[in-house]
Amino acid sequence: MKFELKPLPYVFEALEPVISSKTVEFHYTKHHQGYVNNLNKLVEGSKWVGKSLEDFIREAEGGIFNNAAQVWNHTFYWEGFAKGGKPLRDGKIQHEINKSFGTFNAFREQFSQSAVTLFGSGWAWLVKDKDGNLRILQGSDAWNPLREDLQPLLTCDVWEHAYYLDYQNRRADYVAQFWSIINWEAVEQRLQVIQS
Ligand code: MN
Repeated sequence: MKFELKPLPYVFEALEPVISSKTVEFHYTKHHQGYVNNLNKLVEGSKWVGKSLEDFIREAEGGIFNNAAQVWNHTFYWEGFAKGGKPLRDGKIQHEINKSFGTFNAFREQFSQSAVTLFGSGWAWLVKDKDGNLRILQGSDAWNPLREDLQPLLTCDVWEHAYYLDYQNRRADYVAQFWSIINWEAVEQRLQVIQS
C-alpha cells in the first residue's frame, strides 16, 4: 500500500496574498509530493512495509524518518490554514494559550520569534506536553513532536521553499503574515483529540 498525497483543503489561490498561488502549487505538488514519492521508494521491499507515518516518525531514522515526517508535517501545515483564516474564539485553545503564555499577544510574539530565529531549515511548533502545558519549540529539518510524545497543535514551515518566491530572504515578513490565515477552528479540534 503506497502513501498518497492528501488533497489540499482549498484551491492554490486560497491563501493569497499571504502565500501566493505559485508558492502553494510548488510547495504542494513538488516538495510535498516529492517527500511522498521518496518515502514510497524507501519503504518498498523494506522491513517497514505496512507501517504508518506515525510509526516512522516515532521509530525510524535517516531517510525514512525524514521523508515520513516531512509528509506528515506538510499535511498538518496545510490543514492549519483556511482562506482568510478562521478567528480564535472564546474556547479551549484560547484558554490554554492564556494559561501557558499569559496573553495571546505574548504567545504570538514568542512563536514568531521561534519561527524567525530557527537557524537553517525547520518548523516552529505549538505543542501540548504530558503535563498539559502548551509549549513553543523549534524543530530542525524534519523534526516532529510525536517523536517526543508531544501533541502537535500548530506549525509554521520555515524552510526557504515555504516563502522564498513571495518574500525572498524576509522570513520575518512571512511569519508576520502567517497569523492572518490560521484556521483556529482546526487548531481547537486538534486540542480535543486524545492522543493514544
Ligand atoms: Mn515545506
